[in-house]
Amino acid sequence: MSKSRVAVVTGTSSGIGRAVVERLAADGCRVLAVDANPEGEAIAQAAGAAFFQADLTDGQQCARVIATAVERFGNVDILVNNAGIQHVADIENFPEAKWRTIIDLMLTAPFLLTQAAWPYMRQGGWGRIVNIASIHASVASPGKSAYVSAKHGLIGLTRTAALEGGELGITANAVCPAYVRTPLVERQIADQARLNRMDESEVVEKIMLSGAAVKRLIEPGEVAGVVAYLASDQASAVTGADWSIDLGWTAR
Ligand code: NAD
Repeated sequence: MSKSRVAVVTGTSSGIGRAVVERLAADGCRVLAVDANPEGEAIAQAAGAAFFQADLTDGQQCARVIATAVERFGNVDILVNNAGIQHVADIENFPEAKWRTIIDLMLTAPFLLTQAAWPYMRQGGWGRIVNIASIHASVASPGKSAYVSAKHGLIGLTRTAALEGGELGITANAVCPAYVRTPLVERQIADQARLNRMDESEVVEKIMLSGAAVKRLIEPGEVAGVVAYLASDQASAVTGADWSIDLGWTAR
C-alpha cells in the first residue's frame, strides 16, 4: 500500500476475514475488524488492528461500524464485505428465518456498509470495495438456495457500485473463491462425511474437488492476496470484475 489507508473488514474472527485483516495490517493499513463473535478482539489485536463487535444482520449496527471507523481513524478508504454463513436444506424445507438471516448478512449488510462508506470514499476521491462472493455467485448447488441467491445478488451490487463509482475514484470488485480451508468448510466436510458415510478425505476428493482442475483446497492467505491487490493503487483499472480464485472450477 502506498499510503496508510483505512480499511473496514467484516467477518474477521476466523477464516478468510482473519487472513484479510492480517494481510492488510501487514501492508500498512489501519484496519477496523468487525465480527459478531467477541473472540475477534484478541485476533484483531494480535494483527495490529482495531476491533468492533457487531451483528451485521442489524442495519443500525452496520451504520455504527462505519461511524466507528471514522471516529477512530478519520475516514474509510477500503471496505471488505466478507462475513457469511451457510445453511443447507432443500427449498421445500428451507426455514424462512434462515433465508432472511442469510440475505440480511450477505446481501443487505454489504449494501448498507457500502452506502455508509460511500460519502467518505467520494470525498477522498479514492475508494476500494471488495465483496467476497463465491463460485456460488455464478453456479448453483442444490440445498444452498439462500447462499447462492445472496452471492448472485452480491455480484449485481458489485457491478452497480462499479458503474456509480467509476467517475469518483471508487472501484468495486467481487472475489469468487471455490472451497477455502476455513472453519465454514471444515464443518461442511464433517457434515458431508456423516451424510454420505465417507471419511473426510474422501469428501474433499470426491465431492469438493471433483470439479476442480487443481486438486487441493485454497488457503485463506491466497484469497487475502487477491483482496490486497484489488484494494491497492495498482488495481485502479479493475472494477466491476468477478475475480475467480477457484482452482479451475468454472473453466469447464
Ligand atoms: P468462517 O465461518 O470461517 O468466518 C465467517 C465469519 O463471519 C466468522 O468470524 C463469523 O463470526 C462472522 N459472522 C457470522 N455471522 C455474523 C454476523 N451476523 N455479524 C457479523 N459477523 C458474522 O467463514 P469463511 O469460510 O472464512 O467465509 C468468509 C466469506 O467467504 C463468506 O462470505 C463465505 O461465503 C465466503 N466464501 C467462503 C468459501 C470457503 O470455501 N470457505 C468459499 C467461497 C466464499
